[in-house]
Amino acid sequence: MIERIYAEDVTAEQDGDEISVAGHVHDVRDLGGLLFVILRDGTGRIQLVFKEDDDADLFAAAEDLSREDVIHVTGIVQAADQAPGGAELAPTAMDVLSESESPLPLEVSKDVDADLSTRLDTRYMDVRNPEVRAIFSLRSKAMAAMRDWFESEQFEEVDTPLLSEAGAEGGADLFPVVYYGREAFLSQSPQLYKQMLVAAGFDRLYEVGHAFRAEDFSTSRHVSEIAMFDVELGFITDHNDVMDVQEESLRHTIRAVVENAERELELLGSELTVPEEPFPRITFDEALDILEEEYGHFPEDPTDLDTKGEKLLGEYFEEQGHPAIFVVGYPKEKFYYWQREGDDIASRKFDLLYRGQELSSGGQREHDRETLIAAMEAGGVDPDDFSFYLDAFRYGVPPHGGYGLGIDRLIQQLAGLDNIKEAILFPRDPERLSP
Ligand code: ATP
Ligand code: MG
Repeated sequence: MIERIYAEDVTAEQDGDEISVAGHVHDVRDLGGLLFVILRDGTGRIQLVFKEDDDADLFAAAEDLSREDVIHVTGIVQAADQAPGGAELAPTAMDVLSESESPLPLEVSKDVDADLSTRLDTRYMDVRNPEVRAIFSLRSKAMAAMRDWFESEQFEEVDTPLLSEAGAEGGADLFPVVYYGREAFLSQSPQLYKQMLVAAGFDRLYEVGHAFRAEDFSTSRHVSEIAMFDVELGFITDHNDVMDVQEESLRHTIRAVVENAERELELLGSELTVPEEPFPRITFDEALDILEEEYGHFPEDPTDLDTKGEKLLGEYFEEQGHPAIFVVGYPKEKFYYWQREGDDIASRKFDLLYRGQELSSGGQREHDRETLIAAMEAGGVDPDDFSFYLDAFRYGVPPHGGYGLGIDRLIQQLAGLDNIKEAILFPRDPERLSP
């Protein structure tokens, strides 16, 4: 490896030490006999100060630098109040590892407001922008914290297939693929596999994977390929056990981001507070009442919340200090949710709304095979298409539940981004399949 430390780790306390750094040339300022080069790496920027009087050859080499060249520089740290991070470097040696062509396809150091589509076309340039890069550092830290929570709570990580014969949700939102001459589909969700694994004896499992939705959308919160954090747990009493897991893991993740991603949050201008209070758990009917009484709003489909309804509920509870709430008991749910006579709610399905946007769906599942088959038939789903799944319910299945959380939406909210695509390195939408 080329020896180097990261820009964010260079501090005034190292004054007088010899260190090496490496990265892209962010900017060059020539003051005649004095040359300031800003070097940028994945963590930040450091100023290199070349003086003609100190080393004429090194100075000449620095004068030849262009923006976005890749360099490796050794030098002496100098505490400097005016420098970003409180320290700069007086170089003693420099290697140019790679030269950049110019003009650049997208500006990195200049504040040019390119539209999102142009930025995504040249994502390898766009992500060099420190504010953009910060999104993905934050994302990595958030996901590490989320995994940590589940590992420390004795959950096991699993992998389920992305190619199968039938979709988890049925319907038209599937991407067909040619599978050795026959039709198969990309996974919409690991839902059915998670349940089969509970039947197989996994009590507490999670999966970090991708799911594909062939929806024809044009919103700021939908993409065609999504990153999902899926969870399933056995031996639950009811859906509240699932909400407990979701609530605690999310609180832990947000706390970790607030504590460990201070630099990223500041660059992004995202003000994040840890939701310490218990998340309110309201019924679907209560949600409709609030929308009607407070806002005179009626969702078009009376069995679901619409985007505007979610946003208004978000505002209503945010004002009371609750950025996250659960809405429980949606009517007319998919076959795999528990929806039995005698419950005081229509189903044991819940959504988590965070900052006025759906972040996850989950609930207690139906584990009685006959009830499951009846629910499929009532919903127009042919049980014969799902025998691989239904067979798993013949030989003993613990009561269970789980949820699927959209990772991209979570990062969109934590980073305070207008569009979900900004939270994804190489997003997919109905128009975009490249890069
Ligand atoms: P929505 O109603 O917002 O379209 P959904 O109810 O269809 O979402 P689910 O099937 O419940 O989505 O998927 C679980 C989670 O995955 C959602 O809560 C969301 O965070 C995320 N998700 C689902 N579809 C998309 C999508 N097309 N783009 C981005 N995230 C998605
Ligand atoms: Mg949902």
